[in-house]
Amino acid sequence: MIRTRFAPSPTGRLHLGHAYAAKVARDLARSDSGEFLLRFEDIDTTRVREEFYQGIEEDLRWLGLEWDGVPLRQTARLAAYDAALKTLEQRGVLYPCFCTRREIDSEIARMAGAPHGPEGPLYPGTCKRLPLSERAAKLAGGLPFSWRLDAESAAAATGPLSFLDLLHGIQEVDPGLLGDVILARKDIGTSYHLAVVVDDAYQQITHVTRGEDLLASTHVHRLLQTLLGFPEPAYLHHRVLTDETGKRLAKRHDSLSIRVLREGGVSVEDVMARLAD
Ligand code: GLU
Repeated sequence: MIRTRFAPSPTGRLHLGHAYAAKVARDLARSDSGEFLLRFEDIDTTRVREEFYQGIEEDLRWLGLEWDGVPLRQTARLAAYDAALKTLEQRGVLYPCFCTRREIDSEIARMAGAPHGPEGPLYPGTCKRLPLSERAAKLAGGLPFSWRLDAESAAAATGPLSFLDLLHGIQEVDPGLLGDVILARKDIGTSYHLAVVVDDAYQQITHVTRGEDLLASTHVHRLLQTLLGFPEPAYLHHRVLTDETGKRLAKRHDSLSIRVLREGGVSVEDVMARLAD
């Protein structure tokens, strides 16, 4: 049985782009009498507002995109993310990073040929190269740090990997595509990458559907799933809705929020027609 999920962050109301993502996930599940789950990606509590949980549910219901079961909140899952982080640490694929954003930027500016990925410059590996004595001194001194994935060690531990995308076919994993990503932020102790992998396994998601802007992240997720002994889901990276200038729809496109459309008298049928493939 196919099980999919829609995973919005309650940091704003739904706009057409979200509604499209929800519809893709719902339709795939329904094509197999499967289940469509709702998960709130709310770990970044500095940006989350309580009213948006209900607002998002209200928008989904209005659109007829009903989900199965009780929505999962990632803030209720912090212990599970911690446990996964410990496993990864024990596997020797993490290192602590003490860098500030500013230090990273100046290191990148200083380096000739700093590594780049699809989303811009990659972390230049400063703390990976830190002598062990220096690392120990910083830890003992209580300096705040994030945990980064050592992509090279991770790849050595997993060997070659791939994933199946229902639209794009089999993709070979490039372990270095996003570099040594952060798995636990200094401020919140976890990250999108870690939480999404842990929860997709926990909720037994068989097919992960999301925008193709997150395709690069899937390379990291396959590494993490393998290191954590989780099952491999199939993927469907769908198109991302854009405005007339080609920019990805985002919170700032208030005029395209489902609520504004609804209150402006647009019908569900009209909205759904805009979401047709
Ligand atoms: N919260 C993410 C988004 O809104 C979804 C991430 C995912 O589906 O993995 O784009």
